[in-house]
Amino acid sequence: MIVRTRVAPSPTGDPHVGTAYMALFSLCFAHQSGGQFVLRIEDTDAERSTAESEQSILDSLRWLGLDWDEGPDKPGPHGPYRQSERLDIYREHVEHLVEQGHAFHCFCTAGRLAEMRAEQMKNKQTTRYDGLCMSLSNDEVAQKLEAGEEHVIRMKVPEEGTCLVQDRLRGEIPIEYSQIDMQVLQKSDGNPTYHLAVVVDDYLMEITHIIRGEEWINSAPKHMLLYDYFGWDMPELIHMPLLRNPDKSKLSKRKNPTSIRFYERMGFLPEAVLNYLGMLGWSMPDGEEKFSLESMIEHFNIERISLGAPVFDVDKLKWLNGRWLREELDDDRFADRISEWAYNRESLKRIIPLIKERVDVFSEVSDMIAFFASGLPALEEVDLVAKNQSVDDTKKILQFALWDMEALATWDRDQLNTLFENVAVDLDLKIRDVLAPVFVAISGKPVSPPLFDSMAVLGPDMTRARMKHAIDVLGGVSKKLNKKLEKEYQSIRRSRT
Ligand code: GLU
Repeated sequence: MIVRTRVAPSPTGDPHVGTAYMALFSLCFAHQSGGQFVLRIEDTDAERSTAESEQSILDSLRWLGLDWDEGPDKPGPHGPYRQSERLDIYREHVEHLVEQGHAFHCFCTAGRLAEMRAEQMKNKQTTRYDGLCMSLSNDEVAQKLEAGEEHVIRMKVPEEGTCLVQDRLRGEIPIEYSQIDMQVLQKSDGNPTYHLAVVVDDYLMEITHIIRGEEWINSAPKHMLLYDYFGWDMPELIHMPLLRNPDKSKLSKRKNPTSIRFYERMGFLPEAVLNYLGMLGWSMPDGEEKFSLESMIEHFNIERISLGAPVFDVDKLKWLNGRWLREELDDDRFADRISEWAYNRESLKRIIPLIKERVDVFSEVSDMIAFFASGLPALEEVDLVAKNQSVDDTKKILQFALWDMEALATWDRDQLNTLFENVAVDLDLKIRDVLAPVFVAISGKPVSPPLFDSMAVLGPDMTRARMKHAIDVLGGVSKKLNKKLEKEYQSIRRSRT
């Protein structure tokens, strides 16, 4: 058997370290036995998927050295590898399921479903579609379709019995069918949901082993049923442990930078980041902590994955990166790598227009531009909080701007300008007062080259990380404060749109 694995990110945000983690293990597993590793873009959520996010995922995985054998930009025998280009395939498959009686049209309105759920919750039952539309006759369905009634297609799920999910690392996991919803397979816009598309694609792309996060275990019964309905053999399932923050909660950007781009910006070596991901929940047979991708592939053994909660610890990653820098880069290579990173012509040419006007002699330059190539600036509360503001006011400005930044589709100076003008209007503040702490958060000083241009050069990940760092310097946002701010933010947001 030729082993074929895949990573299947949804392009709805920053390239996540979790995606790189799955890609690394999938690639090692396939390449160790001479198999193939596929990159598939799961962009069926048309509203949230963006071309920028897809490009950023591709670039980040390549930066790490995780290259794929087939993918959206690497044609292969099972393409296209972008789900939005495969919609006809899914429709055909859904129709087949309906014809065979494994799936049905559902015309229930959002209102009815909400009522049904509320009732189930009141009775302390699992919230699950109650099957009302399964009782429609063929004629009734035909009439409704004819009349153009909005509908989805759902899969049938047995009411009773137990599904035995087989996981390579965890053995048999029993899950009651009564806990499984009659999943929507095709949405009212005609697009498939993840569950249908993932099954159809894994089968058609001849994936033999599915390596993904443990958060998908509960979806496995739906997928197993679908394989069964289609009469296909199920690939082997390998659910990896979830990466955690140091406090053991699920790795989240609220607590740790999760975008691969941030680590690139910080000047981590891709070899070290990969090495670190390989150390999370896995170890070399000889226990050596520093290893290359090639030797991980060579010594890879899936049974060595441990299911304990692996903690993504930036300090440990930094320690490992230091080892790579010192042990692998002689002075020549160090010089090459540091200029490849940020001290290159390209980068300087983006910065020069921002400082040229203010420079009389070169010796003024390095001080002025140091913040472009530094990590998180050393800040103190007194630098951030203006005399006429409280710590909480300042936190609010930074947090509101940060939330707006997270939703910003295009990262450029004009968009950023508008963003801050909006924050000023929202908080009824002068733009000058809004920007004062932001200057400090971004450049570490009250004055800097033009702020929005600087943010554009720094990129979204580093900019947001610095905003978050400034909030942390001010004591962070507690759960309680977060709730309060979020409420206020949402209501302002609603009135703005
Ligand atoms: N698109 C899913 C995700 O982004 C893929 C999950 C899977 O690997 O099946 O997590």
